[in-house]
Amino acid sequence: MNLKDKIRVIEDFPKEGISFKDITTLLQDGKAYKEAIDLCIKELEGKEFDIIVAPEARGFLVGAPLAYATNKGFVPVRKPGKLPYETIKYEYELEYGMDALEIHKDAVKSGQKVIIVDDLLATGGTTLSTIKLVEKLGAEVVGVLFLIELTFLDGRNTLKDYNVMSLIKY
Ligand code: AMP
Repeated sequence: MNLKDKIRVIEDFPKEGISFKDITTLLQDGKAYKEAIDLCIKELEGKEFDIIVAPEARGFLVGAPLAYATNKGFVPVRKPGKLPYETIKYEYELEYGMDALEIHKDAVKSGQKVIIVDDLLATGGTTLSTIKLVEKLGAEVVGVLFLIELTFLDGRNTLKDYNVMSLIKY
Protein backbone atom coordinates (compact mmCIF):
# COMPACT_ATOMS: atom_id res chain seq x y z
CA MET A 1 0.00 0.00 0.00
CA ASN A 2 1.24 3.50 -0.78
CA LEU A 3 0.65 5.30 2.50
CA LYS A 4 1.31 8.68 0.89
CA ASP A 5 -1.90 8.23 -1.12
CA LYS A 6 -3.79 8.00 2.18
CA ILE A 7 -2.65 11.43 3.35
CA ARG A 8 -4.87 14.33 2.35
CA VAL A 9 -3.01 17.52 1.46
CA ILE A 10 -4.83 20.78 2.15
CA GLU A 11 -3.23 23.88 0.68
CA ASP A 12 -3.19 27.14 2.65
CA PHE A 13 -4.30 25.60 5.96
CA PRO A 14 -4.21 26.87 8.70
CA LYS A 15 -2.82 29.88 6.85
CA GLU A 16 -1.62 30.90 3.40
CA GLY A 17 1.50 29.16 2.18
CA ILE A 18 1.18 26.09 4.43
CA SER A 19 0.59 22.78 2.68
CA PHE A 20 -1.10 20.85 5.49
CA LYS A 21 -0.60 17.09 5.63
CA ASP A 22 -3.89 15.76 6.99
CA ILE A 23 -3.43 12.27 8.47
CA THR A 24 -7.12 11.85 9.46
CA THR A 25 -7.73 10.14 6.09
CA LEU A 26 -4.95 7.64 6.90
CA LEU A 27 -6.25 7.06 10.43
CA GLN A 28 -9.80 6.35 9.32
CA ASP A 29 -8.55 3.57 7.02
CA GLY A 30 -7.93 0.61 9.33
CA LYS A 31 -5.47 -1.13 7.01
CA ALA A 32 -3.47 2.03 6.39
CA TYR A 33 -3.31 2.98 10.09
CA LYS A 34 -2.15 -0.53 10.99
CA GLU A 35 0.43 -0.58 8.22
CA ALA A 36 1.80 2.81 9.33
CA ILE A 37 2.16 1.63 12.93
CA ASP A 38 3.65 -1.70 11.79
CA LEU A 39 6.28 0.20 9.78
CA CYS A 40 7.08 2.29 12.87
CA ILE A 41 7.51 -0.93 14.89
CA LYS A 42 9.96 -2.15 12.20
CA GLU A 43 11.97 1.07 12.49
CA LEU A 44 12.33 0.48 16.21
CA GLU A 45 13.34 -3.18 15.86
CA GLY A 46 16.67 -3.87 17.52
CA LYS A 47 16.68 -0.49 19.29
CA GLU A 48 16.98 -0.52 23.04
CA PHE A 49 14.59 1.89 24.74
CA ASP A 50 12.46 2.12 27.87
CA ILE A 51 9.64 4.50 27.09
CA ILE A 52 7.87 6.51 24.36
CA VAL A 53 7.27 10.25 24.70
CA ALA A 54 4.98 12.17 22.34
CA PRO A 55 3.71 15.78 22.07
CA GLU A 56 -0.01 16.49 21.79
CA ALA A 57 -2.17 15.87 19.97
CA ARG A 58 -1.30 13.93 16.82
CA GLY A 59 1.85 12.54 18.43
CA PHE A 60 -0.45 10.56 20.74
CA LEU A 61 -2.08 8.83 17.75
CA VAL A 62 1.27 7.37 16.72
CA GLY A 63 2.93 7.07 20.11
CA ALA A 64 0.20 5.27 22.04
CA PRO A 65 -0.29 2.31 19.64
CA LEU A 66 3.50 2.02 19.37
CA ALA A 67 3.88 1.89 23.14
CA TYR A 68 1.22 -0.83 23.31
CA ALA A 69 2.81 -2.87 20.53
CA THR A 70 6.32 -2.65 21.98
CA ASN A 71 5.31 -3.22 25.60
CA LYS A 72 6.65 0.16 26.70
CA GLY A 73 5.19 3.00 28.71
CA PHE A 74 3.77 6.16 27.16
CA VAL A 75 4.36 9.75 28.29
CA PRO A 76 2.32 12.72 27.02
CA VAL A 77 3.89 16.14 26.49
CA ARG A 78 1.27 18.88 26.51
CA LYS A 79 0.58 22.58 26.12
CA PRO A 80 0.74 24.52 29.42
CA GLY A 81 -2.00 24.02 31.97
CA LYS A 82 -3.21 20.62 30.77
CA LEU A 83 -1.19 18.23 32.94
CA PRO A 84 -2.59 17.86 36.48
CA TYR A 85 0.55 17.08 38.52
CA GLU A 86 3.80 19.06 38.94
CA THR A 87 5.41 19.85 35.61
CA ILE A 88 8.50 21.33 34.07
CA LYS A 89 8.12 23.70 31.13
CA TYR A 90 10.15 24.52 28.04
CA GLU A 91 9.43 27.74 26.16
CA TYR A 92 10.30 28.12 22.51
CA GLU A 93 10.02 30.72 19.81
CA LEU A 94 7.47 30.56 17.01
CA GLU A 95 7.33 32.66 13.85
CA TYR A 96 5.24 35.10 15.88
CA GLY A 97 5.61 35.01 19.65
CA MET A 98 6.32 32.14 22.03
CA ASP A 99 4.88 28.75 22.80
CA ALA A 100 5.60 26.22 25.51
CA LEU A 101 5.37 22.52 26.29
CA GLU A 102 5.16 20.74 29.63
CA ILE A 103 5.90 17.28 30.97
CA HIS A 104 5.19 15.76 34.39
CA LYS A 105 8.38 16.05 36.43
CA ASP A 106 8.29 12.32 37.30
CA ALA A 107 7.27 11.13 33.82
CA VAL A 108 10.70 9.84 32.84
CA LYS A 109 13.54 8.83 35.14
CA SER A 110 17.20 9.73 35.03
CA GLY A 111 19.07 7.32 32.75
CA GLN A 112 15.98 6.02 30.94
CA LYS A 113 16.26 5.62 27.17
CA VAL A 114 13.51 7.52 25.34
CA ILE A 115 12.02 7.39 21.84
CA ILE A 116 10.17 10.57 20.84
CA VAL A 117 7.33 10.19 18.34
CA ASP A 118 5.24 12.69 16.37
CA ASP A 119 3.09 12.65 13.25
CA LEU A 120 5.22 15.10 11.27
CA LEU A 121 8.65 16.70 11.22
CA ALA A 122 8.57 20.25 9.87
CA THR A 123 11.17 22.67 11.32
CA GLY A 124 11.94 20.35 14.23
CA GLY A 125 11.06 22.99 16.85
CA THR A 126 8.37 20.91 18.55
CA THR A 127 10.62 17.86 18.74
CA LEU A 128 13.64 19.82 19.96
CA SER A 129 11.49 21.28 22.76
CA THR A 130 10.30 17.79 23.67
CA ILE A 131 13.93 16.62 23.69
CA LYS A 132 14.87 19.50 26.04
CA LEU A 133 12.16 18.44 28.49
CA VAL A 134 13.25 14.80 28.45
CA GLU A 135 16.92 15.74 28.89
CA LYS A 136 16.10 18.18 31.72
CA LEU A 137 14.72 15.16 33.59
CA GLY A 138 18.00 13.31 33.03
CA ALA A 139 16.76 10.80 30.46
CA GLU A 140 18.49 10.04 27.17
CA VAL A 141 16.84 10.46 23.75
CA VAL A 142 17.92 7.46 21.66
CA GLY A 143 15.71 8.18 18.64
CA VAL A 144 13.01 10.38 17.15
CA LEU A 145 10.41 8.89 14.83
CA PHE A 146 7.88 10.54 12.49
CA LEU A 147 5.21 9.29 10.10
CA ILE A 148 5.93 12.22 7.79
CA GLU A 149 9.00 14.36 7.13
CA LEU A 150 8.93 17.65 5.21
CA THR A 151 12.52 17.39 3.98
CA PHE A 152 12.63 20.91 2.47
CA LEU A 153 12.31 22.46 5.95
CA ASP A 154 15.47 20.67 7.06
CA GLY A 155 14.22 19.68 10.50
CA ARG A 156 16.92 16.99 10.38
CA ASN A 157 19.53 19.71 10.72
CA THR A 158 17.82 21.08 13.84
CA LEU A 159 17.90 17.51 15.19
CA LYS A 160 21.37 16.66 13.83
CA ASP A 161 22.63 15.32 17.16
CA TYR A 162 19.88 12.68 17.22
CA ASN A 163 18.87 9.55 15.33
CA VAL A 164 15.98 10.74 13.11
CA MET A 165 13.65 8.18 11.48
CA SER A 166 10.66 8.87 9.17
CA LEU A 167 8.36 6.80 6.99
CA ILE A 168 6.96 9.18 4.37
CA LYS A 169 8.89 12.07 2.83
CA TYR A 170 7.74 15.20 0.98
P1 AMP B 1 7.74 21.70 13.74
O1 AMP B 1 7.85 22.04 15.17
O2 AMP B 1 7.95 22.89 12.83
O3 AMP B 1 8.63 20.54 13.33
O4 AMP B 1 6.25 21.29 13.47
C1 AMP B 1 5.81 20.05 13.81
C2 AMP B 1 4.44 20.04 14.42
O5 AMP B 1 3.53 20.90 13.76
C3 AMP B 1 3.89 18.64 14.32
O6 AMP B 1 3.35 18.32 15.61
C4 AMP B 1 2.85 18.71 13.25
O7 AMP B 1 1.67 18.07 13.69
C5 AMP B 1 2.58 20.18 12.99
N1 AMP B 1 2.79 20.57 11.59
C6 AMP B 1 3.74 21.43 11.13
N2 AMP B 1 3.66 21.60 9.81
C7 AMP B 1 2.65 20.82 9.38
C8 AMP B 1 2.08 20.52 8.08
N3 AMP B 1 2.54 21.08 6.95
N4 AMP B 1 1.05 19.65 8.04
C9 AMP B 1 0.58 19.06 9.15
N5 AMP B 1 1.06 19.29 10.40
C10 AMP B 1 2.09 20.16 10.51
